[in-house]
Amino acid sequence: MTATEQKSILIIEDHNDMMLLLHRYMQENGFRTIQAQNAELGLEKYHQETPDLVLMDLMLPGMSGQEAINKIREEQHPNTYTPIIIITAKNAIEDIVRGLESGADDYVVKPFHFSELLARVKTALRLKELNEMLVQQSNQLEEANSEIRSLNKTLLSKNKELRKSVYNLHSLFEISMDLNSILELDKLVNSILLTLAGQFSCNKLIFMLARKHDISRLEIVNSKGFHKDDLKDLLVTRKDPLIGFFTKKPRPASLKEIGTRAKNSIALREFKKLKIQILSPVIVQQSVIGLICMGPRVKNKAYAKQDLEQISTLGNIISISISNASLYQEVEQLSYMDGMTELHNYRYFELRLKEEVLRHKRTNQGLSLLILDVDNFKNYNDTLGHPAGDEVLRKLGKILKTALRENDIVARYGGEEFAVILPAVDKKGAIILADRLRMTVEETYFDHEEIQPGGKVTVSIGSASMPEDALDHKELINKADIALYSAKRNGRNRVCDYDAKMEK
Ligand code: GH3
Ligand code: MG
Ligand code: MG
Repeated sequence: MTATEQKSILIIEDHNDMMLLLHRYMQENGFRTIQAQNAELGLEKYHQETPDLVLMDLMLPGMSGQEAINKIREEQHPNTYTPIIIITAKNAIEDIVRGLESGADDYVVKPFHFSELLARVKTALRLKELNEMLVQQSNQLEEANSEIRSLNKTLLSKNKELRKSVYNLHSLFEISMDLNSILELDKLVNSILLTLAGQFSCNKLIFMLARKHDISRLEIVNSKGFHKDDLKDLLVTRKDPLIGFFTKKPRPASLKEIGTRAKNSIALREFKKLKIQILSPVIVQQSVIGLICMGPRVKNKAYAKQDLEQISTLGNIISISISNASLYQEVEQLSYMDGMTELHNYRYFELRLKEEVLRHKRTNQGLSLLILDVDNFKNYNDTLGHPAGDEVLRKLGKILKTALRENDIVARYGGEEFAVILPAVDKKGAIILADRLRMTVEETYFDHEEIQPGGKVTVSIGSASMPEDALDHKELINKADIALYSAKRNGRNRVCDYDAKMEK
């Protein structure tokens, strides 16, 4: 046995000769002994030297051996175990039982063979080793368990993150579809700002764009969370270093980052004053044509790298949408407007209806179509003349525009017929809306309307909805037409919702 492996045995024994014998024998067998003549001293040495094993006489002066065993067991560290072997007289069987109950592990009865004692000491020490190994392994297991718990926690949070990015990707797809179907620039920009506000919990936003008539500067098209006066000094000219920065690096950046590269930017100073944190360029044909400016997020949450990536993706979608919308804007006035009523014309109606049908198919939100026709309009025209009839059509156009929501699309469908596309409105909703329109027309005074058969200018309305009535835009128009015809047949100045029975 080497010195480091040498085990120590605390011997508590009041008889000097016995102590000497035990000491010698244990030493001869490679153990180091610690000696104590009574229990009090024994406890003291136990605490000082933490022996590997205690060998003790039960019959001791002062504190009894049994009491000492109790104390050792009470104070024992959970990671170590000290075997206790008691030595007792032949006639003290009860002492043995009590000793074992108090926590002793084994006993020898005097007189004993030293070889027997040695065997018991070795067995007890082996048990101690096994016990400590078990404790160690159980600690390792506990450690592994806690590692597993923390891994599990990480896994759960990663999973959550993953689910969030899938959700974000999904909503990005939805956003791109939605934005791309908005052809009017003002509506598009408004939608973009609302989308960004919602996605990033940011309530201060500015959208700037170079307008066709003056591409030397970016102008504010729309903003959220600012007063008009706040923004009166904000101007970004094409010469501003900011534009150069984004031409080289066409992705969103924080004001801090831009500040280090685009020194002397006048606009940047103004953005700082407005507490803008992120700028993202709108690029069309490699040229910066616009800027999305985003202020602080609610609760002052910082924009993370992931957020910037998402803004970048959104930025690309927005760039495409803007370029679509700008192209559209150029031709819009000429080809999609009805000159007389200032409503959209049939071409626009058809284009939008197709888009809305696609959107309905994607989102399943429902879609309704109303077709309105002026009742006995020929009579009005014939009696009061064509220009008076035109006046009625213009007035009807205004009524429709004011009565409907921003998202609804009103068009002059034909001579004295109008169409209203109602995205995300179901059959029931469409009928309620149609009847409200019908009543508004009935209640509006038109010049000389007394000459009409009912004494009033009125309209009949046919309504059809998806998914109930039609599979595509042509069928939807057809069904609304059938419903309109039914309204006429049933006495005019009424709303009819398409029903398959109408075709019998
Ligand atoms: P109904 O209740 O069945 O619809 O009767 P109606 O007289 O309105 O129907 P009809 O289709 O026979 O007549 C439509 C008239 O609308 C014919 C035309 O004089 C008039 N009209 C069509 N386009 C215009 C327009 O641009 N200006 C004016 N003033 N009248 C128009
Ligand atoms: Mg007609
Ligand atoms: Mg008519």
